[in-house]
Amino acid sequence: MKNIILTGDRPTGKLHIGHFVGSLRNRVRIQNEENYDDMFVMIADAQALTDNADNPQKIKDNILNVALDYLSVGIDPKKVHIFIQSEVNSLTELTFYYSNLVTVSRLQRNPTVKNEIKIRGFNDSIPVGFFTYPISQAADITAFKANIVPVGEDQLPMIEQTREIVRSFNRIYDNVLVEPEAVIPDNEACLRLPGTDGSRKMSKSVGNCIYLSDSKEVVKEKVMGMYTDPLHIKVEDKGHIEGNSVFTYLDAFCTDEDFQQFYSEFKNLDELKKAYQNGGIGDMKIKKFLYQVLEKTLEPIRERRKIYENDIERVYQILKEGTDYAKKVAEKTLMEVKQAMQIDYFQEDNLLKQFYKQKEK
Ligand code: ATP
Ligand code: MG
Repeated sequence: MKNIILTGDRPTGKLHIGHFVGSLRNRVRIQNEENYDDMFVMIADAQALTDNADNPQKIKDNILNVALDYLSVGIDPKKVHIFIQSEVNSLTELTFYYSNLVTVSRLQRNPTVKNEIKIRGFNDSIPVGFFTYPISQAADITAFKANIVPVGEDQLPMIEQTREIVRSFNRIYDNVLVEPEAVIPDNEACLRLPGTDGSRKMSKSVGNCIYLSDSKEVVKEKVMGMYTDPLHIKVEDKGHIEGNSVFTYLDAFCTDEDFQQFYSEFKNLDELKKAYQNGGIGDMKIKKFLYQVLEKTLEPIRERRKIYENDIERVYQILKEGTDYAKKVAEKTLMEVKQAMQIDYFQEDNLLKQFYKQKEK
């Protein structure tokens, strides 16, 4: 079987360190292992419009931002096709046909969508497009016959929904679609990185993010203002690790080497955690360490971003070529889907052939 990789992000804002540990880091690793036949990264502008219909400018403005984020983390346009979702019109058509294979009650059970509806305060005014976006996501994945989808944990219900659609389609019509597998990070802290406010997932729509493109100064300010342990008031107080975002970020980012480089009193994170829990380590100290650890990752990303920012026409060209290629691949799948559904009327005069066949009976 061929290995085809597809992932994407909504251009609702710049990408943040949650995206980095949850999905981008895995994508770059997979890209560099080169054990695949084709790899696609999609800027999901059509999906972003499902909950931003009244603010299309925001989505438009962020397309190049997200593309710059991809290129700065090391997505290589020679190895990966980066494309814009709304330009690939076959995806909309696939979504329409797949909608017939999913029930309203099935969509209502999707825990990620449920939670997002709550966060966005939609109550009884849920846009239909938003409610059904898991179906459009199934179209995105299956159009490219992707079998591997590197995503954050919140996307697992979408992959499950896609698998169900694939099974229904292949059973009813013909064996055309491929069931995808999600690849999620094996480090628990990376599954759902909390925001700097410590309360919930870091998310562009909530605004509790450290962005990949934040300056050194902004990163420092955000880290210094992070939520830690409200019971840890004096340095001598025993500290708590659980729910303490600084430690979750350290879990996601730091290595033993970072201790040698920036905090040689301790060998590794386990030692630091124990010491913090016993009391005697101030929050400022661990925040300063976290800042240094984050900068080690963010500095080269920032540098690469500068190069691409100064050559925006090249970025535009990368998106154009990636989109042209994606269009061709998705069109081919759409034709196969229509053939399986026997609605490819004008292919090889099928409509006429069906008429004569019926007449013969
Ligand atoms: P929005 O608030 O607009 O939904 P978002 O910040 O949730 O934005 P998405 O574009 O929806 O970002 O998600 C893109 C990818 O990044 C998905 O695979 C998602 O699982 C992953 N991801 C998003 N936020 C996090 C996070 N805090 N931790 C780990 N992975 C994340
Ligand atoms: Mg999201």
